[in-house]
Amino acid sequence: MTWKERQHSFRLSDRYNAALTGTVFDIQRFSVHDGNGIRTLVFLKGCPLHCMWCQNPESMSPKPELMRLPHLCIGCGKCIEKCPENVFSIDSEGAFIVERDKCTYCGECVAHCYAGAMTIVGRYMTVDDVMEEVERDRHFYETSGGGVTFSGGEPTMQAEFLLECLCEAHRRGLHTAIETCAMVRSDVFERILEHTDLVLTDIKHMDSAQHRRLTGAPNELVLRNISNAAAMGKKLRIRVPLIPGCNDSVENIEATAKFVSSLGSNVESLDILPYHRLGEPKWEQLDRTYPLHGIEPNAKETVLTMHGVAQKYVESVTIGG
Ligand code: SF4
Ligand code: SF4
Repeated sequence: MTWKERQHSFRLSDRYNAALTGTVFDIQRFSVHDGNGIRTLVFLKGCPLHCMWCQNPESMSPKPELMRLPHLCIGCGKCIEKCPENVFSIDSEGAFIVERDKCTYCGECVAHCYAGAMTIVGRYMTVDDVMEEVERDRHFYETSGGGVTFSGGEPTMQAEFLLECLCEAHRRGLHTAIETCAMVRSDVFERILEHTDLVLTDIKHMDSAQHRRLTGAPNELVLRNISNAAAMGKKLRIRVPLIPGCNDSVENIEATAKFVSSLGSNVESLDILPYHRLGEPKWEQLDRTYPLHGIEPNAKETVLTMHGVAQKYVESVTIGG
């Protein structure tokens, strides 16, 4: 199903349902980078984009996924022996083959891999399950001005579940934030924003054709949703992942900064995020090829130049967020 089909198959419900189930791939406590104060980050699976530099490729699919960490594997063969679906095999040249399509996520291979080389990313949780985790640090939110941030993947891919979580968080008096690529149907986005206090969003390229080349989708909807969020009076932090040879031209950063300056005073900052390769091993663990293999991190001078360009148009520009 394409991202467009997924968005159009979604119908907003008027009733909030705390027992609704979503697919969560991680929950991180004590974050200080993704919104105000101390926060709990809830990562939802699924993303409509396929950015070439994605640092969380395990988040792209909305379903749970099997990951194998080759550097931990001791070759004991237990996973081959225990898997009821024959997902694993060794080919004639000794390579370890994983037929992911056959996997039913039963967890047998994880349970029997004593080296800890197998893991299933993504678990089903109810809104109440998520809130139970989030509530553990209420004291820290209250003393630091923090709250809960829903990230991904792209959290709006599970729009109904996200909306339930945001509503429940607001009902409990918690500050809410979302980290979003803003590639979501506009009426759905607006409904989500009603229960969102802070929006952290990316602009990956101002040229739509380049945006499509780099992420798999054009940028018109993204820019429209960001403009709408600003018009609704939402606090925004806009990020630009600075990818060498992809979007790190003066022309693109200038166009981005001009667009951000047009959004008005609700933009708290424009954050330039220098490229890093920390996510590359995960592509291998999913048996995928990293599209930017071999690309070096940005030169320091480039980052400083882009910072200077953006500062001509936007008052608060940070490096790294
Ligand atoms: S059970 Fe774990 S350590 Fe053994 S072969 Fe499978 S992945 Fe490797
Ligand atoms: S989770 Fe179950 S079906 Fe999937 S690979 Fe592991 S043992 Fe096989």
